[in-house]
Amino acid sequence: MLHSLEKMLRNLDGKSYKMYKQIEGSYEEEWFQLHIDYVQGDPFAAPTRIRWVIPKSFVAFEEEWVGTKARKIAFVDYMTRQLASELVRISGRHSQQSSGKPDSHHGLTKGTGNSGLAMMDTPGQEMLERSSIAILKHHLDIRMTIGLPAAGRRILGLNAIQMLCNQLPLALKKIGASLDHASLQAQLMLADQQEDIRTFLRTNGYIAFVANGSILPRESGISNRPMHASQAVAFQSPASMEIEIPVRHRSAPIAGMGIRRGVTVIAGGGFHGKSTLLRSLERGVYPHIAVDGREFVITDTDAVKIRAEDGRSIERVNIQPFINHLPFGQDTTAFTTENASGSTSQAANIIEALEMGAKAILIDEDTSATNFMIRDQRMQALVHKEREPITPYMDHVRQLYEKQDVSTVIVTGGSGDYLEVSDQVIVMDAYVPQDATLQAREIVQSYPSHRSSDLEHEIDLMTSSRKLDSRSLMIPGSKQKVEAKNQTTIQYGRSWIDLAFLEQLLETSQTRAIAYALLWLQKQRKKNQSVSEAIDAVYTQIEERGLEAISPYYGAHPGDLAMPRRFEIAGALNRYRLLRMQ
Ligand code: ADP
Ligand code: MG
Repeated sequence: MLHSLEKMLRNLDGKSYKMYKQIEGSYEEEWFQLHIDYVQGDPFAAPTRIRWVIPKSFVAFEEEWVGTKARKIAFVDYMTRQLASELVRISGRHSQQSSGKPDSHHGLTKGTGNSGLAMMDTPGQEMLERSSIAILKHHLDIRMTIGLPAAGRRILGLNAIQMLCNQLPLALKKIGASLDHASLQAQLMLADQQEDIRTFLRTNGYIAFVANGSILPRESGISNRPMHASQAVAFQSPASMEIEIPVRHRSAPIAGMGIRRGVTVIAGGGFHGKSTLLRSLERGVYPHIAVDGREFVITDTDAVKIRAEDGRSIERVNIQPFINHLPFGQDTTAFTTENASGSTSQAANIIEALEMGAKAILIDEDTSATNFMIRDQRMQALVHKEREPITPYMDHVRQLYEKQDVSTVIVTGGSGDYLEVSDQVIVMDAYVPQDATLQAREIVQSYPSHRSSDLEHEIDLMTSSRKLDSRSLMIPGSKQKVEAKNQTTIQYGRSWIDLAFLEQLLETSQTRAIAYALLWLQKQRKKNQSVSEAIDAVYTQIEERGLEAISPYYGAHPGDLAMPRRFEIAGALNRYRLLRMQ
């Protein structure tokens, strides 16, 4: 296969690595095209980017596989997983075949730098829209990165032939020929069902659903995979909160706990599973794969986790509803700081989320500033309102729902004041949720709180739209380096944007897309745009030309992006320390 490429590689064998550049270009085979879009400069540099364009008929493609957006995402997800695991297998075998250490004198190894590796952008537990495979009219465009084989800085041409002209085409052939239609169909049907649940929730006044039998806890604090079924207590809805949702492809509806719009308190003793439930709700904004345990945990896509984040910068955010009368008369309607406190950061996080159109706020007291959450009666008596800049969330939560239709789910083990403002109360008891709404109402009546509301300024979404000064996104100097260093860090010119506290950001591929979105915004340099309009423009662009439209590699190899939500793009923008508003 690929005779012209093979010939070139044979000639390059043993030569300097830099000469690999010659193989950049496109190669035709009978049943596919190979595009070598970018060749790395040395074995330690960013890997070589290639694409395989294969006819859809090769996988006996049916258009109904991609008939809806959800299906399209699920299909690309499925194919990417299959290919990625085949590549892991190949790369593994590859390195077993090579003997000796990297840089050994004999030149027998392929171990230098990333050489010999072939990769695809591999999904985790969630099914995200990604650019790993593009679905064209008659073809699939499959994006890989490879490390071109080297010994030291010498080209291993024969190994490159083995990889590019044999192993990888064969892998594609194998996937094409042995595509497991049943398991692909299962994933597509799951996507349909998840979509059905989402639609049901939206049209029936719910913000979240947790199916009975779901496995919420994870294997460990650093793993997103499910806890082993033998240890985990499967989720079971309290009878009073149980709803049944009819979905496609099965006769029986799916039963589970429905969380209504409004204010929901999740209470319960320490270690009884409150945070685990909330974390599942946070992740439920994305669809999960079948074996995840949370595949039928579905949350409104516009639900945003809010936490304290001291140290972050804030640029002209109207946090007056939460923070007013600062000691030295500092204005809080356009609050700016390089170093926010726990409570100011949490206030800014909420206002910014609302600015982007959040429909639900998810809060865990574990990661909140106490003074932002509550101010009890005794503290009100001790510290008079004029002396306390903070209006706690407690005093906004009802009005936020009733006037702005923004729901809240709040985890609290310590503060009973929230019982008073809640619509429903769930108590976690040894990982089993109980409906404690009526009990909570009785308690509120028997133990009346004499606390008065601190509310002065209601949150008004109309007054909080800031105008972006897009010049502040310009990167000084000639080198416009914009890059996702890892999932939580973007290098933007000479600045670093820290995303560690965006808890609903899942993958480096999303972070990459966010980095490119910022770069794209910078190039637009539009005037008079609110932050929300600017982010809208990014999505309009993506809708028109695909996720890869924002990639600097557009048209060549933008294969390593996953779709971020608008909240996370705005989250990065808002954390850029040189950001300015008009
Ligand atoms: P809380 O927030 O109420 O203090 P967590 O949600 O942090 O409790 O859970 C405490 C521990 O229990 C965690 O280690 C978690 O993995 C585990 N856990 C949570 N839910 C379950 C469950 N359904 N089955 C088994 N273990 C669970
Ligand atoms: Mg907790």
